[in-house]
Amino acid sequence: MTTAVDLGTLGYNNYGAYLREKYNGQKVYKVIVDGGFTCPNRDGSKGFGGCTYCNVDSFTPEPSRKNPSLKEQLILGRERAVNGYKAEKFIIYFQPNTNTYAPTHYLKLMYDEALSVFPDEVVGLAIGTRPDCIDAEKIALLESYTDKYHVDLEMGMESIYNETLTQINRGCSHEEFVAAVELLKDSKLDLCVHTIFGFPWETREMMRQYIHEINRFPQIKFVKFHHLHIVEGSIMGVKYKRDPFPLFSLEEYTDLLCELIPLLRPDIVIQRLFGISDWDLLIAPNWGLKKSAIQSYMNKEIERRGIIQGSAYVA
Ligand code: SF4
Repeated sequence: MTTAVDLGTLGYNNYGAYLREKYNGQKVYKVIVDGGFTCPNRDGSKGFGGCTYCNVDSFTPEPSRKNPSLKEQLILGRERAVNGYKAEKFIIYFQPNTNTYAPTHYLKLMYDEALSVFPDEVVGLAIGTRPDCIDAEKIALLESYTDKYHVDLEMGMESIYNETLTQINRGCSHEEFVAAVELLKDSKLDLCVHTIFGFPWETREMMRQYIHEINRFPQIKFVKFHHLHIVEGSIMGVKYKRDPFPLFSLEEYTDLLCELIPLLRPDIVIQRLFGISDWDLLIAPNWGLKKSAIQSYMNKEIERRGIIQGSAYVA
């Protein structure tokens, strides 16, 4: 369980290397689709307004925002990936909102429709969701696709502290997260956990504890790290404009990553080190660099400091 995969030239298990190895060097690209779902803390069943940092548009690509048809979104997303990145194979990624928040028979219709658009080129399905919208029936549905596809279930943990989860109007406790992870113990699904670092009331020591919590669960295969960023259209955005609070600089956040990566179990693959949103939606922190330049800065710093994933991990 704790055997590291080949780290390549970087000191951490990065998703690019993982995909290249898994798909024999073919270029695999995620195509994001908006299935038109909502969230229980938006529609009133658990609350209104959603998580305070969230504006779903900030992580939904332009074509998906403008084109309601699933098929149209997929065709445009595929075209963009082929023309821009020479993509050869695709993972269909239901990302915005909570993509298991509907009856199972409806979910099946949506997933089947998406998988039928260019079936020969699709290698995987990735489903973004919340811990309180997962149950045995939905897991069984997603597992039914694993004969043909790799299926990632991406679940937001965000913070391990219930005080934080309450403050950000998450509508879901850390205990609910743990219960959902337990449900996935012997699952065929690949579990990816999403976290946010930088809530201004959390200390660095508190953030280190996130990693120890993730390490406890062997079924967690991927992580996505995200720094807190403030976007237009979010409740935090309104508050921040009124009364700004400290956020990570690029240097501070990279320094944190350099502390966290050695603590992380060596077999976990890091899908993402930081979050990104469209320039027109980003309020702060604006690091003034494009995604590739941020990635390159972080990778160089990780390499310069000789950071190795798992080197400080204690089982
Ligand atoms: S962060 Fe996720 S769960 Fe929270 S409101 Fe946004 S889409 Fe919904």
